[in-house]
Amino acid sequence: MSRIALLPEEVASQVAAGEVVERPASVVKELVENSLDAGATRIEVLIRRGGNSLVRVLDNGCGMDRDDALLCLERHATSKIRTGADLMAIHTLGFRGEALPSIASVSRFRLTTREHGALAGTEVLVNGGRMETVRDSGEPEGTQIEARSLFYNLPARRKFLRTENTEASHVEHVLQLQAIGHPHVGFVFLNDERLVHQLPPGQTLRERLRDLFGTTLVNELLEVSETEIAGVCVSGLLGRAGVSRSNRQQQIVFLNGRPIENPTISHALREGYHTALMKGQHPVTFLSIEMDPAAVDVNVHPAKREVRFRDPAHIREVIVEITRRTLESDRTSWSRTFTAPPSKPFTPDETLPLIPPPEQFTLRRDWSQIPASSAAPAENPTHQIAGTSESTALLTFTSAPSAQPAPAFSAQQLLQPRPTLDFKFIGVLGRLYILMENAGGLVLVDQHAAHERILFEEMRRRMEGQGVPTQRLLLPITLQVAPKDADWLRENLDALSRTGIGLEPFGAGTFKIDALPQFLGASDSPQLLRDIIDELRDTSQQTSKLRLGEDMIAKTVCRHAVKANDILREPECLRLVQDLLACELPYCCPHGRPTMIQLSYLELEKKFGRKV
Ligand code: ADP
Ligand code: MG
Repeated sequence: MSRIALLPEEVASQVAAGEVVERPASVVKELVENSLDAGATRIEVLIRRGGNSLVRVLDNGCGMDRDDALLCLERHATSKIRTGADLMAIHTLGFRGEALPSIASVSRFRLTTREHGALAGTEVLVNGGRMETVRDSGEPEGTQIEARSLFYNLPARRKFLRTENTEASHVEHVLQLQAIGHPHVGFVFLNDERLVHQLPPGQTLRERLRDLFGTTLVNELLEVSETEIAGVCVSGLLGRAGVSRSNRQQQIVFLNGRPIENPTISHALREGYHTALMKGQHPVTFLSIEMDPAAVDVNVHPAKREVRFRDPAHIREVIVEITRRTLESDRTSWSRTFTAPPSKPFTPDETLPLIPPPEQFTLRRDWSQIPASSAAPAENPTHQIAGTSESTALLTFTSAPSAQPAPAFSAQQLLQPRPTLDFKFIGVLGRLYILMENAGGLVLVDQHAAHERILFEEMRRRMEGQGVPTQRLLLPITLQVAPKDADWLRENLDALSRTGIGLEPFGAGTFKIDALPQFLGASDSPQLLRDIIDELRDTSQQTSKLRLGEDMIAKTVCRHAVKANDILREPECLRLVQDLLACELPYCCPHGRPTMIQLSYLELEKKFGRKV
């Protein structure tokens, strides 16, 4: 006995609806995408009871004639593609021809539409997929679609709807994404007659974000100067270095106008931010990527959130590069804000010894050796320091062992030109925070974070240039590792040697370490190296090999930077700040924590109740 039967059209639509229509927010998404595809410049969305009782989307787009108004409710009816070949290059947000019949099959559905210039429009009523009425209508040009009582005919589905507030916030999220992706289109959003958003057409992305999220966020964003690299064009706004969130809510990326979630891009953004992002945090981005639709497959998921790139490595490179450039472009304005002079500018004496190159920072840091007298505050800092041997010793932190050859380059050559410092030094708070005055108010510098950043960039410059100075070990150390670690080590021998670690396979699971970076100091035990390798192996799963060296530096400089509790005096503080300002990415330490904070007069006045 045969048991197979073709499903009636209505049931087939309901099955298909399961994929496209999950909740009111998905209805809103599909309808708004249709409006955008229809070239609308104004879109109004109204929901009642979280969209469970009504979703209505009204647009001023091209509208439909009578035939199309009927045809658009058939499954697989679309004006957007014609042939299989068109699927290879999708230029519109929709293309599956599934949304309208799906929505109409699980709601009480009403469509009114009128083409531009047409005398009359059309109204179509559908109930749970069954067409009930077709007649002329006098609605304005454009299209209006209402879906009432969502899932009224599918009680099992209806049960999965959450509270009205939850559904409404999903709708709001969908709309925000669309509004951000299309700032030139005006959006109005009403929730139970309450006006939630009224966003005028013709806005820039910045204006749109300001209207949606307020000025605080907008001030934290940097313009990505529109860049095209090999067919991939990127524009938009990125959070400044140090701006981050604990989730990906504000990591928003559009690909050809469509909001997407894509691991390749997420990784690329992380990598682009690299040291400008705290561990476990996510960047804030409003990026728009435009590329040849043929180079990307959007037909992966019915809701089209996922995409597949034909050449993910290329996309990754482009995003990393653009993110890095944008973050670095911020440097000038950043240091301008911080260095705006208070009353009497301070210019440090260029003959002063500089923060010494890192190899002179040995692990010994015996502050008790510093003569007490030198810690006393002096009237004129430049006089106090110049030429006194204690202060030189202090600046070197610990004198480098005299047997060690002097470095072949001076720190001066390694650093970029120093900006003149216009800060007024106030003091050091809690042996950690350097307090300074500038035009804006109070500046606090975390001395450890600042020093980490300086050392990090200096080490990186060397790694890219003449290489990290290494020290050959007289007695090579053998390192025994687990098979998995051995594989990882063998794959990364090159990267490790660039960072100054000389490693040679020495039989199964054994390696011979015959050189270490000088700045690690020979006193460091293999245990330290093992720790570093452990940490690096973990990070390298998320970052590319190129970054391996940087991670290694970031991890090691941390151990060598001036610590909290190390007492710095005025000239050293000023030097530190000056060197920091000469860095490529001065805003944060290599782990993404801020190095400097500005407490403005306005904030102080607010705290003291002088201003509200
Ligand atoms: P798709 O968008 O994938 O083509 P839909 O079921 O969402 O499928 O829509 C079917 C067709 O109905 C679209 O191809 C389009 O021609 C037409 N359509 C839908 N919404 C609108 C609208 N707001 N304005 C004009 N035409 C529309
Ligand atoms: Mg559609």
